[in-house]
Amino acid sequence: MDKIIDHDFRDRPDNIDSSGQRKWINAKQPKGKWYRRRNMVGYILLVFLVVAPLLKISGHPFMLLDVLNRKFFLFGQMIFTEDTYILALLMATIVVCIVLFTVVFGRLWCGWACPQTLFLELVYRKIEFLFEGNGRKGNKKLKKSEISQVRMLAKHAVYIVVSIFFTNVFLMWFIGPDQLMKIMGGPISENLAGFLMMIALSAFYYWVYAYFREQICTLFCPYGRMQGVLLDNNSISIIYDYKRGEPRNPKITEGGDCINCRQCIAVCPTGIDIRNGSQLECIHCAACIDECNLVMKKINKPYNLIRYDSFQGIESGKRSFLNARSIAYTGVLVVLVVILGFTVGRRTTIDVTLWRAQGTLYQQLDSETYSNIYQVMFLNKGNEPLELTLRLLDSPAGEITIAGDQVVLPANGKLKEAMIIKLKKSVLTGKETECKIGLFSGDQLKETITTNFLGP
Ligand code: SF4
Ligand code: SF4
Repeated sequence: MDKIIDHDFRDRPDNIDSSGQRKWINAKQPKGKWYRRRNMVGYILLVFLVVAPLLKISGHPFMLLDVLNRKFFLFGQMIFTEDTYILALLMATIVVCIVLFTVVFGRLWCGWACPQTLFLELVYRKIEFLFEGNGRKGNKKLKKSEISQVRMLAKHAVYIVVSIFFTNVFLMWFIGPDQLMKIMGGPISENLAGFLMMIALSAFYYWVYAYFREQICTLFCPYGRMQGVLLDNNSISIIYDYKRGEPRNPKITEGGDCINCRQCIAVCPTGIDIRNGSQLECIHCAACIDECNLVMKKINKPYNLIRYDSFQGIESGKRSFLNARSIAYTGVLVVLVVILGFTVGRRTTIDVTLWRAQGTLYQQLDSETYSNIYQVMFLNKGNEPLELTLRLLDSPAGEITIAGDQVVLPANGKLKEAMIIKLKKSVLTGKETECKIGLFSGDQLKETITTNFLGP
């Protein structure tokens, strides 16, 4: 049996040969229910990627990550720098969610939602199939000479156009469609830096998907390398049923169900042999399940010799998601989700920050009245403009003066104003008197701010 089992996989990735040279992977196009499902999910995600930055809600971007101008919109809601703690919480929740998901369901993310897989398998690989035909029909590799130079050039021309398109889609996420159109419509000399950046990004994007390809997953992806610590015997992954398949034997009537046809390898985008067990190069794309099922159909054996299952499931036939790790991660996730929900629930649409004007203590206006000068920063996180007034809540013997009697706050905007509080000597309680200030929109109290009024 050793003759038909390849042990090289323990020494190096399958896309590198014994001399250290890269082996080009010409994966065969899969056919089957998992491929159809994956295409459906993948294309929905790609459509979201292209359409989301174009959408607007009440005139505001649905998605925008404008790092340069520190303007972020998520699902139509503006995220201010003051809300970064919510983003940090959200990131922590997503990380724990991915870890938990990986512990239970393995690398579902890699095969079904990772942008690298979506672009390579659903976009660039399909262009390759279009111009070069189906990479490997069975075990037969397409020779270079079988592909005309014209077809190769045409394929790379389409690669370049697609790379420029997706680079512009990415730019839209960061600068918005209006700005992108402005740059594209204007003369290059006016936007030279932006133009050069677009060319450089497109070239990088083209290089990744035309040449570097699956090496991103097999050599660089940190998530792939975490699998060794995240997965255990109960984790669901794509697994070969060695109990049913071994001893593999090309004769259908002898040995196990695996006939060593190597179709599962031919279809694999990272070129690995899933029969060697769980490997970090496996992106869980499920192509080998589909391909092996086609073989099983032909030789009239039960489906799912390769399937979604756990090592424990193959060994004992019993599957269990519950173990100390999945319970612990679930506990952490629940706590994070509760904190996140509580924090988002308490998020107000108005933020007010008040501080004493630099270098001032108090001013005596007449024998009975003192004043303090403040700076106030108003922040409107809502999509509607607001007209606000400020009133002293529990100091009737005083008044607030602010430039104009009303503060008009633009939607998703900030405003900084100087503010003066005047209090009668009779209401001062010492060197510091606590003042409560109400922020009203019409008669509705929106926010209460507390500050100390300095006196003699
Ligand atoms: S496709 Fe199935 S039968 Fe063929 S080698 Fe792979 S596991 Fe064995
Ligand atoms: S072994 Fe199977 S699931 Fe893993 S990458 Fe290859 S084809 Fe996809």
